[in-house]
Amino acid sequence: MTPPRPRRRRPAPRRRRIVVALGGNAIQRSHDHGTWTEAVRRMREAAAALATIATPDVELVVTHGNGPQVGALLREAELGAREVPAPPLHVLGAETEGQIGYLIAQELGSALERTGRVVVPVVSRTAVSARDPAFHHPTKPVGRFYPAAEAERLRRTLGWTLAEDRSRGGWRRLVPSPRPLRWLEGEAIAAMLDLGAGSRVVFVVAGGGGIPVVRRAARWEGVDAVIDKDLGAALVAAAIGAETLAIVTDVPAAAVGFGSSGARWLGATSPVELGRLLRHGEFPPGSMGPKVEAGLAFLRSGGRRFVITDFPSLAEGVAGRAGTRVGFPS
Ligand code: ADP
Ligand code: MG
Repeated sequence: MTPPRPRRRRPAPRRRRIVVALGGNAIQRSHDHGTWTEAVRRMREAAAALATIATPDVELVVTHGNGPQVGALLREAELGAREVPAPPLHVLGAETEGQIGYLIAQELGSALERTGRVVVPVVSRTAVSARDPAFHHPTKPVGRFYPAAEAERLRRTLGWTLAEDRSRGGWRRLVPSPRPLRWLEGEAIAAMLDLGAGSRVVFVVAGGGGIPVVRRAARWEGVDAVIDKDLGAALVAAAIGAETLAIVTDVPAAAVGFGSSGARWLGATSPVELGRLLRHGEFPPGSMGPKVEAGLAFLRSGGRRFVITDFPSLAEGVAGRAGTRVGFPS
């Protein structure tokens, strides 16, 4: 009688782990009013594109921006402050992770239902350094525009930093945008993915780059700052050992000479070339700059591939055939 063959534990199938970072336009376009109905419509389109890349060989993790949403909550808090105490900015950040996580769960959840995957949003915190120089130099505009006199009053009474935006004819509050150092929930999510959760679950994490927290007296404390969602996405991708970081925005690629008549889309490229163009000012801070920086940071931390593209090109982008991309076989 032949001895029973030792049962081999079948190794979990190797899947490509992809982090997709959704830009604000996945939820709200510039001419939208910010209604829930619009947000659902936008997200439904985004979800259809995301569903095309959620093939059985792919583990998908989603992160997203929150600029317009946090701006709306700030305004709401400001108007309601006489009756309801205004929450600090970090709490509003947590609220946006809830509302956008819910939106993605509804729409992407429905789009993925037949694949047996469940969308699980995770309220996420991101550690920053209390000594980050950004706390002395706020740079990130948030909320609405104020007339000059009102801006002056807010500076005096609340100690806000405000900057004038001449093109929009008003003053806007600036808040610090410190460098994200560690995504606190990252280890737990990475462990679940390593146990195979990615075949059944799409985690939605670190919305708005995560809620900024600092370590003080052996505790975590929320701080009034915002984290760049692209840099947050790079941190997420590194924390879970993703193969690919895909940054989805409203242009099909990064361009050289953007906005000029000689502009050209950048396709397959290299970190050296991107670094050079970044230093030459081709990718401005606050829009394309952080996306390129995030891609480069991800590669430095051991990531293999990244791509910047839009929803219509997403499937081609993660296949290495569209978008501004590094690390795909040519
Ligand atoms: P998101 O909400 O997706 O983060 P952003 O508005 O922050 O989007 O960044 C995308 C925008 O960056 C584009 O709509 C475009 O107007 C702008 N942009 C600036 N420089 C470039 C460039 N070199 N190539 C492509 N887009 C650029
Ligand atoms: Mg942006």
